[in-house]
Amino acid sequence: MSTPTTKEPPWELIEKVIGLERRKGFRDQAVIGGLEAFLELHWPEGAALVRGYASMGTEEREKALAQLQEALDARKREKFRSLAVPIEEAAGVGSKVAKLLRKLGIETVEDLLTTFPRRLEDRSQRKAIIEVQDGEAVTVQGVVRTKSRIKVRPRLELIKVAVDDGTGVLFAIWFNQPWIWDEIEQGKEYSFFGKVQIRFGERQIENPIWELAGKDFHTGRWVPIYPSTEGLSQGTLRAIIKRNLARFGPLIEDLLPEGVRKRQKLLPRRKAIAGIHFPEGPEAFEAARRTLAFEELFLLQLGLALRKKRWHDEGGKALRPDPEMVRRFIEGLPFSLTESQRRALRDIERDLRAPYPMMRLLQGDVGSGKTVVAAGACVMTISAGSQAAVMAPTEILAEQHFLVFRQLLRGLPIRVERLLGSVRGKERERILEGLSSGEVDLLIGTHALFQEGVEFKDLGLAVIDEQHRFGVVQREALKKKGKGTNILVMSATPIPRTVALTLYGEFSVSILTEMPIPKKNVRTVWVSESRREEVYGEVERLLRAGEKGYVIFPLVEESEEMDLRAATVAYEELSKRFPWAGVGLMHGRLPPEEKRRVMEEFRQGKIRLLISTTVVEVGVDVPDATFLVIEHADRFGLSQLHQLRGRIGRQGQSAVCYAIADPSTEEARRRLSAFRDIEDGFRIAEEDLRIRGPGDLLGTAQHGFVSRLKVADLIRDLSLLESAREEAFRLAREGVPGYLVAEVERRFGEALDRLGV
Ligand code: ADP
Ligand code: MG
Repeated sequence: MSTPTTKEPPWELIEKVIGLERRKGFRDQAVIGGLEAFLELHWPEGAALVRGYASMGTEEREKALAQLQEALDARKREKFRSLAVPIEEAAGVGSKVAKLLRKLGIETVEDLLTTFPRRLEDRSQRKAIIEVQDGEAVTVQGVVRTKSRIKVRPRLELIKVAVDDGTGVLFAIWFNQPWIWDEIEQGKEYSFFGKVQIRFGERQIENPIWELAGKDFHTGRWVPIYPSTEGLSQGTLRAIIKRNLARFGPLIEDLLPEGVRKRQKLLPRRKAIAGIHFPEGPEAFEAARRTLAFEELFLLQLGLALRKKRWHDEGGKALRPDPEMVRRFIEGLPFSLTESQRRALRDIERDLRAPYPMMRLLQGDVGSGKTVVAAGACVMTISAGSQAAVMAPTEILAEQHFLVFRQLLRGLPIRVERLLGSVRGKERERILEGLSSGEVDLLIGTHALFQEGVEFKDLGLAVIDEQHRFGVVQREALKKKGKGTNILVMSATPIPRTVALTLYGEFSVSILTEMPIPKKNVRTVWVSESRREEVYGEVERLLRAGEKGYVIFPLVEESEEMDLRAATVAYEELSKRFPWAGVGLMHGRLPPEEKRRVMEEFRQGKIRLLISTTVVEVGVDVPDATFLVIEHADRFGLSQLHQLRGRIGRQGQSAVCYAIADPSTEEARRRLSAFRDIEDGFRIAEEDLRIRGPGDLLGTAQHGFVSRLKVADLIRDLSLLESAREEAFRLAREGVPGYLVAEVERRFGEALDRLGV
């Protein structure tokens, strides 16, 4: 860098003076000799902007100062040019600090300024030393009278200073921080923050935060606390951010369109960023946080809106379902549809008739009857002359769907086939031919459906069941099978609304709110390992009474370290114990034929006690199963437990679920009590989100989204998310400025791509 020919004005000093002048009410008392003279000395160009300051009225002065600030900002913009510069160019960042910052993922000045505090710490309470009570966290200010250094043990040295504020004396103590000895000077005044303890009548603060009196930066006010700063102290980071906010602040531009910002009553971006780092108090912090969270959610929703628009613009065929065939389907059902099932079918029909592809999420608690809605959607599609496909996450479920669909569609001119990974050779060829010629109307299977070589003649509808279990790859593959294919995603994991709006943001949602069979019939009991025998005694009683049920294990193989009784071992034991009941074993590694046989025998009652791993977690519908034992229940997630419980009492008959667990963590204990006490799937999902945090709940594919949210909180910010969504979709309709498209791409592009569909 070349050395400038003229000396740079002392920007920070000038800014300080402007600030002080404002705070003092524009009385020209910030500097001795007056503002104009001060500027004349340091920055003549600036002095010209406040010419005659001494004789101006307050209002005029305020205006003059605003102009001065604007000129200062303009200079800074010119000088510092961009927020995208490497972190080394930040003020106060040498190579050592830069290295630490980079470790935290802070590569540029912009990254630095958008490293937001998670919370504030209240250090604003100031007290005279004499008034301080035991246990209080306060700021005190006083002169250091004495310093002493005490070697307690070979590796324990403490520094103790006596602080005197005129009302009393307090001792500040640091352990093993020798550098403090040179930093803190006798006779000078400092302020200290920490928790005061009164010991033997002596007031003490251990390891207080301290700074020169009057600085009021790390003490004496509300202070931002940043997320983990490995190797870098909170104080250092705070100071670096402060300096660079002053330097680069003028380069922060608004992202939100003016209209959106005004309607939502949000702060300008620069103010919000300054406000989240250095707010006056909790209210100002929340106002700043709200703006930044909105911005983030808005950009994310805009990404989803744009993707939906692209999807719409690709176009699709407007299908014309045959009302006669749909009517025959509905009348042929062994039950009448619930109101929400009817509503969902109407939503779907409207989408299918529209000239763009459907993207709909069908959401409903376990047992709410999603399958029949999916079948209805297939009938509509097929009656309009297209093909449909249903993809299930496991072979067991695909097999079950195949049976159920065939039953539901009986009597209709629809040819149903199933394609599982295990279907090979001639059988596979026959199916594939039927598909490409259009003779097969409905294909049911696992992800094998969307592998290479599976060609549909005209795929009009893809139904994806229990979507959360799918990787992204399969959804990508699905997209390639048909252009403009309508998509219906079914989720039995009731996702909290915030998450639904984020993950399925571009989907329309139909919710099955009623249960066809009211679900108040399943009793959940949480028992300790020591009472396992009692549980199996109860199992015996139920089996003798002719009942049918499951015992679920978290893993397949014995794993001694984790102290799990594996399914196989239990199977051997229990088949010896209850040979008369028919005991079966089910797990993911059984050959497909064997799986099918076991499920069939369980359905028919030849097997009445099914020992299984979690392969039966989702969707399995054996209506007369009435009991469930979950071994090592603490190893399951809350939603997973709820899913498992959904396997029993499916016809409204009373049923019982035993969760056997001695949880060793607080989190697991919370999970199990929630499981025992909450029946409603949506409340379970919310509780799950609360216990685990969003990232964990959503799995890796979706995690990308959530980890990119720096400010927004998916639990608390529902209403903010809803308004952000509304504004984003509105803007997408009206036209999105290029800079916003670029910003969406920059922040969420990768995550959006990875989410597929
Ligand atoms: P899920 O939404 O969990 O996939 P299913 O579609 O498997 O639920 O339906 C659960 C059970 O409820 C099935 O046995 C199904 O036949 C039955 N069912 C679905 N809709 C109705 C209805 N309207 N009236 C009565 N029973 C219904
Ligand atoms: Mg289902």
